[in-house]
Amino acid sequence: MKTFAKMSTTYAPTLKEDPAEAELASHKLLLRAGIIRKTAAGLYSYLPLALRSLHKIENVIREEMEAIGAQEMLVPMVTPGELWHDSGRWEKYGPELMRMEDRHGREFCLGPTHEETFTDLVRNELRSYKQLPVTLYQIQDKFRDEMRPRFGLMRGREFIMKDAYSFDADVEGMQKSYEDQKDAYARICERCGLQALPVVADSGQIGGDTSVEYMAIADAGEAELVWCDCGFAADTEAATAVVSVEEGQSGELEKVYTPNCSVIVDVAAFLQVGQAGTRKALALVTGDGEPAIVFVPGDHEMNDVKAEHTFGAYHLMTDEEIEHYGLVKGFIGPVGLPDGIAVYADKSLSASEWWLVGANERDYHYVHARLGRDFQIADDRWVDVVTAREGDGCPRCGKPLHGARGIEVSQVFQLGTKYSEAMGATFMDEDGKEKPFQMGCYGIGVSRTLQAVVEQHHDEQGIVWPVCVAPYEVEVIPLDAKGEVFEVAERIAAAAVEAGLEVVVDDRKERAGVKFADADLMGYPYQVILGKRGVKNGVAEVKDRATGERQEIALDDVASWLADKVLPQRA
Ligand code: ATP
Ligand code: MG
Repeated sequence: MKTFAKMSTTYAPTLKEDPAEAELASHKLLLRAGIIRKTAAGLYSYLPLALRSLHKIENVIREEMEAIGAQEMLVPMVTPGELWHDSGRWEKYGPELMRMEDRHGREFCLGPTHEETFTDLVRNELRSYKQLPVTLYQIQDKFRDEMRPRFGLMRGREFIMKDAYSFDADVEGMQKSYEDQKDAYARICERCGLQALPVVADSGQIGGDTSVEYMAIADAGEAELVWCDCGFAADTEAATAVVSVEEGQSGELEKVYTPNCSVIVDVAAFLQVGQAGTRKALALVTGDGEPAIVFVPGDHEMNDVKAEHTFGAYHLMTDEEIEHYGLVKGFIGPVGLPDGIAVYADKSLSASEWWLVGANERDYHYVHARLGRDFQIADDRWVDVVTAREGDGCPRCGKPLHGARGIEVSQVFQLGTKYSEAMGATFMDEDGKEKPFQMGCYGIGVSRTLQAVVEQHHDEQGIVWPVCVAPYEVEVIPLDAKGEVFEVAERIAAAAVEAGLEVVVDDRKERAGVKFADADLMGYPYQVILGKRGVKNGVAEVKDRATGERQEIALDDVASWLADKVLPQRA
């Protein structure tokens, strides 16, 4: 029989002080409210309250997957290296992949994602177009040896992911499967209480052409995005934007003394021009080992993800490399560069003829450097490498973009035949020909979603759980841990459970102040407060955690009153 939980026996050790290890409000609160604990860097234990919320998120996911015909299953978390060699990712994935060997020296990895395993699964047994489409998914721990695990569950090394893989006979089918997942993801965010935006995304390590990320809007988010009133929204890693560039002054090429002006702000201030009127030079070594310089507008940054698409596994030159190639740090320009250095520039700069640039000589810049006269940039070296930002033009309608930050909670990809071709996963089509599957893959960070919910739903006092993911929906707080008040509390809790609610009773022998503070910290949506006077008058005080509103409700009506409030808010 269902019953209510008791605080005295719930393993949820709360902390009075903010833990030093946490920066984000959500991370602090999950630790303080006794919901998670750190086991090691990037490795977290989910305590009982966390698991209750995680199960709710997972159930929302399961319902939405079932609604679009995706089937749940489970593959091993440990993946044979062989499959990753097949797909070509064993070499490509880099140090984030947790590699290991078994006792016979065979290679394995802890799955950071499972395209390989699922493609392998179907490649020998899903044989005919008649069996398609198929979408399979699992909810399981993933492992990524992140360079900088941080922010609690936001960037863990081990984390819970829902990952789905669709197999279709043709491109139209894949697009349909993709749209179905994308729509389901929007509903999942909404049902979990997240305010999230679908944004155009880079397809990253996974590959493929078309991808959208759902971003939970939050100032503390690691992702930067731009959006427009016209509906366009993109991750700055993926956004193309119309960057307006300030044209320099025309004139003869002139070298000017700019003492100690090795950074853009100083050059701009010294020569009294806007930063957009200067050109930032980045010295790098491409993935092929070639030295190169790339220019971006002085008020913009080069984007790492875009740069990787252009230059492969590049790195910015070290001071030693800069010297080795005969460059002058802080004063690099396109005029008079040492031989053998390739010159690239962001496409936006092609609109400008007159540049203000470093003179390749300490403490000097060129003004009036003219594109085509004083320096050249080859046609194929105009590249898109700039990070779009607030104020740049929307690529769709031209209006200025807004900036925002977000937490990437999920991402959907159209993969096409990337994996099916690499791994020889084919089926027999209607016309009797072997064809590779058209695939899509779809991931939700389940544990990250839990923390994103807290990041969007908290206040000074603590967590403000939306009903749909709250570990409990109601907390009954008797201000006496024995006697009549306590008996009434137990009776109300039992009645609320009977009405279908999830209830915890704070039965601890603590002062009222402690109980109130913990109740706000742990953030259950409704608090039922019972004191001697109320009980004598036949009423309980019910507090809505989100609005802070308090109401007196007759003791006999509390359970049905709560049910009326809570049940419609369930996901
Ligand atoms: P990020 O850009 O934040 O590193 P990603 O794009 O590499 O994430 P995906 O491969 O798209 O991640 O994985 C699917 C989902 O898994 C992400 O949308 C995110 O919610 C979650 N996720 C990815 N990495 C982590 C992590 N280190 N900790 C927690 N959740 C993660
Ligand atoms: Mg992603």
